[in-house]
Amino acid sequence: MNPLNRETTATKYKKARFVLNLDKIPQLSTEEKVQLKQVKERYAFRANDYYLSLIDWNDPKDPIRKLVIPHVNELKEWGEIDASAENKVTVRKGVQHKYGTTVLLLVNEVCAAYCRYCFRKRLFMNGNDEVTYDIEPGLEYIRNHPEVSNVLLTGGDPMILKTPKLEKIFKQLREIDHVKIIRIGSKMPAFNPFRFINDDELMDLFRKYSLTDKRIYMMCHFDHPRELTEYSREAIRLLIEAGVVCVNQNPIIRSISDDPDVMAELWNELSYMGVQQYYIFQCRPTAGNEPFSIPIVEAYHKIEEAKKKCSGLGKRLKYAMSHESGKIEIIGVDHKHIYLKYHRAKHLVDEQKLIVCHRNDKAGWLDELKPVDGYKNDFYKEIRELPRPNVN
Ligand code: SF4
Repeated sequence: MNPLNRETTATKYKKARFVLNLDKIPQLSTEEKVQLKQVKERYAFRANDYYLSLIDWNDPKDPIRKLVIPHVNELKEWGEIDASAENKVTVRKGVQHKYGTTVLLLVNEVCAAYCRYCFRKRLFMNGNDEVTYDIEPGLEYIRNHPEVSNVLLTGGDPMILKTPKLEKIFKQLREIDHVKIIRIGSKMPAFNPFRFINDDELMDLFRKYSLTDKRIYMMCHFDHPRELTEYSREAIRLLIEAGVVCVNQNPIIRSISDDPDVMAELWNELSYMGVQQYYIFQCRPTAGNEPFSIPIVEAYHKIEEAKKKCSGLGKRLKYAMSHESGKIEIIGVDHKHIYLKYHRAKHLVDEQKLIVCHRNDKAGWLDELKPVDGYKNDFYKEIRELPRPNVN
């Protein structure tokens, strides 16, 4: 595809404009607006005019609609607000350190729109105070931990920050010699690609700080091939041209990203664009996520089905669960067992450890699985002998 005519793009969408009020969406009926107000009061709503324009309002099951428009079933009592217990690995305000090599800096608590299934929706709630705009304590922590080679800027979406603020962060991180990779977790290429298309200074910044032997990685978050518009593709082209390595990671979500054909199309298209699908995550049992969750066995089979339709480059991903005990890859399912492996572990002793569990077709999270004798790790022995009662 040829690069976009920048003038036309800039004229048509100077920038995506936030939509914070459901009443401002003419396609929703009055009845829906009244119903969804309660949901919005519990879990924040935010969209923008560009992303809303991708919805096919004639299709009640439209996946883009499901991703961004509240649903009454979010009100079902289900899950936990911090399902991966991020509070236990928070070492300073807005700083998480779970795996030796990688530190997370939560630099912002806003996104260009909100995914209804967000695992960090607590950040958008009134009274939450986890994020910090002052990264100095985080930098100090990183300076004192020479094992940290990767820093992930996250939130919220760091790409909401103004370009000069990002420059300050990149510069300070580049002054720490042992930090090799700066990762940016962002759904901005999907939600608002004009953030990249319209900002030449941002591209200069990436060129300056994504070095030959110390790259910046954009951890993109595309959920559906319909998000790969000409604008998103242009944003990715510009990022790659500026020396940024782009990969994709997203959760498998009921009726949004759980169709094998949809997954295969997304992964193949991304591979054509030079973006590797890095992870597909099991949906965390986060409060409000009942309508989005899929049992592990069902998700595993759908992902395997999708892989059959992909080239080798399209299916270099891992299917994993971001559990409080580690990042656990789901490597196989047979008629009796589910086979798991710690890809990253909170406790070094579990790193690369194999866990074999009895097959449970309803389970959506590690806590609901029972390991076969001989495969228990500390998580099972000491922390959770029984499943959490509010996750069914
Ligand atoms: S982009 Fe990420 S942080 Fe923002 S709402 Fe979506 S899942 Fe949450």
